[in-house]
Amino acid sequence: MNIQVRSGDTLWYYSNLFNIPLQLILDSNPQVDPSGLMIGQTINIPGYQTTTYTIQQGDTFWKIASQRRLSVDALALLNPNVNPRQLQIGQTIRIPVRVTYRVVDGNQPYDYQLLLRDLNDLTEIYPFVRAETIGKSVMGKDLTELQIGRGNKIVHWNGAFHANEWITTAVIMQFLNDYLLALTNKETIRGLDVSPYYDQVTVSIVPMVDPDGVDLSLNGPPQGRFGEEALRFNNGNTDFSGWKANIRGVDLNNQYPAKWDVEAARKPKEPAPRDFPGYQPLTEPEAVAMAELAGKRQFEKMLAFHTQGEVIYWGYEGLEPPRAFTIVQEFQRVSGYEPIRYVDSYAGYKDWFVKVYRRPGFTVELGQGVNPLPLSQFDEIYQETLGIFLASLYM
Ligand SMILES: [Zn+2]
Repeated sequence: MNIQVRSGDTLWYYSNLFNIPLQLILDSNPQVDPSGLMIGQTINIPGYQTTTYTIQQGDTFWKIASQRRLSVDALALLNPNVNPRQLQIGQTIRIPVRVTYRVVDGNQPYDYQLLLRDLNDLTEIYPFVRAETIGKSVMGKDLTELQIGRGNKIVHWNGAFHANEWITTAVIMQFLNDYLLALTNKETIRGLDVSPYYDQVTVSIVPMVDPDGVDLSLNGPPQGRFGEEALRFNNGNTDFSGWKANIRGVDLNNQYPAKWDVEAARKPKEPAPRDFPGYQPLTEPEAVAMAELAGKRQFEKMLAFHTQGEVIYWGYEGLEPPRAFTIVQEFQRVSGYEPIRYVDSYAGYKDWFVKVYRRPGFTVELGQGVNPLPLSQFDEIYQETLGIFLASLYM
């Protein structure tokens, strides 16, 4: 929601008027000098949308405001050109609406277009969320990273490294929405006050690592060369619901230089719906973007969300730090998922992350069944994952 500064206004005053933490207002207006506000300058107020209202017989600002538990001055601020003493019947005014509802609904087939819509809605309502393009997919889609918070401790979550595991994107996006609701409305999540984590942690999120693959899996092959190739790699089968790779038939979570040769020797030797590790490590732009991001951000811990199995892989060749075990035990406590230290599988993002940075890295396998998991599991998976998201902030 945008407002225009009046004489004597301060960001501190807006924080009180709208009951939104001052820091969130400051971070929603990074270009603004808070000690040098100028009259008429536009300020973003996070956590609010506006609606219009048509003046009825007998209305006053006081009546309209008190019915909505707003202060009269909030109405005055949003309607600088309206004289409250001369309201006209039929005149429309702007009304601020505190956002206490989700705009993300993860419980649906979650493709790239839906992601873009939700990213747009969230960054508009919550301008303190920073969005950055960290690379492009094979077909040129933006790979978006979101950052929330101001802490030096950077906690990273990613989803949909695998195309037919798009439900992980939906789970991440819905939790992000719930986190933003809790921050702006000063509410707890499962009894946990999350407001300290805004200052202590920076959450880095890449919700959809493989957008071309997700769209292929959900919507079928696109027109043109990439769609034709994918159809060939899928042996002419038009059902792509089991497709795991990127659009070029490379399994992005087999692309990392952490015993890549072991996987290359025993996995498909050419593009395929799943498991082909590429002709070399890090040939695919999506995999490269994620490697570069890890280097740039220096994640304190990393969680890669996959499906399925209700297990959490947390080791790599003994290179994981001791506290990875402490953290995974807490993940187990809050989710019921079983920790697994070592598995005969290499070249994944977690493997590489642990190998290079020696920091806690986790592959979290949500839900149980056959991929793509049915949306009938969404609510249960969401509840299990919620605890893991929170634990990744406080551990
Ligand atoms: Zn996976």
